[in-house]
Amino acid sequence: MFGNLRYRTLSYELEKTFGEKIIKLSVNGGFTCPNRDGTKGYNGCIFCSGSGGGDFAGNPERSITKQIEKQIALLSRKWKSDRYIVYFGTFTSTYGNIDELRKKYYEALDYPGVIGLAISTRADCLSEEVVMLLEEINRQYYLWVEIGLQTVNHETADLIRRGYDLELFEDRFNRLKTSDIKVVLHLILGLPGEKRDDILKTIDYISYIIPWGVKLHLLHVIKNTDLEAYYNLSFFVLMEMDEYVDLVCDCVERLPESIVLHRITGDGKKSDLVGPLWSLNKLKVISEINREMVLRNSIQGCKYEPKHYAK
Ligand code: SF4
Repeated sequence: MFGNLRYRTLSYELEKTFGEKIIKLSVNGGFTCPNRDGTKGYNGCIFCSGSGGGDFAGNPERSITKQIEKQIALLSRKWKSDRYIVYFGTFTSTYGNIDELRKKYYEALDYPGVIGLAISTRADCLSEEVVMLLEEINRQYYLWVEIGLQTVNHETADLIRRGYDLELFEDRFNRLKTSDIKVVLHLILGLPGEKRDDILKTIDYISYIIPWGVKLHLLHVIKNTDLEAYYNLSFFVLMEMDEYVDLVCDCVERLPESIVLHRITGDGKKSDLVGPLWSLNKLKVISEINREMVLRNSIQGCKYEPKHYAK
């Protein structure tokens, strides 16, 4: 067991590592994304809301320090701790001039109580000089890097306009792994055209390459995205809650017990969500997943089979 749960959560992992509660503070570094600035496209991935995952992050007009102060003021009402990890989670947070990246990362790291960083990015935005900067930070602080892989299915990756292939992903993933940099992979469950077996194929791949962490996202249809138009044409159906709960449990059982599950459902903004609307009750979804794991009497990794992924 992982505390009182049947899978390894991020809070469990951080508490085990540091012996106390660590608070994650979300900041907006003011970055953009090659899928949005015209380098690879203008419209972004088909599911991207245009906020680049920054619905709950800070205001990029403010300095990193000011954003950290605001987040601490907000979260200290809920959590009692003075140790923090600063999360650069909006758009592509390694996409910028190397001096600008260094300045922003170290501004965060210099803030009292900050023990490390979490940086969200794309596989095609991890140049050698960026990786060297990450290596430097990793030698002194706690660090993990998040990559939006979403799926290993090439057709789906093209459909959602991910913008890079699996070979490039593997190259950059292995580069980070060689430097002992912890990597968290984002996966989306329920992408158009993907059935249960396709999703489990991605999970088998993850179980083969074994990243440090995984974020399982339920596919959300957000207003004014290309995915919404696609959905309105009835090109795919959204998952029901019981189907999702069952699938997440199948995934958790197959993933090695070492992988930290940073997230097991989505986190959409109510005013922007087209569906599935049941996902707004996040606590219910999580409690149903926990209940199903108990009913099955299963635990993360109980169906993990080393090296059974075949490309
Ligand atoms: S890579 Fe991220 S920020 Fe860029 S378009 Fe895709 S989802 Fe949006």
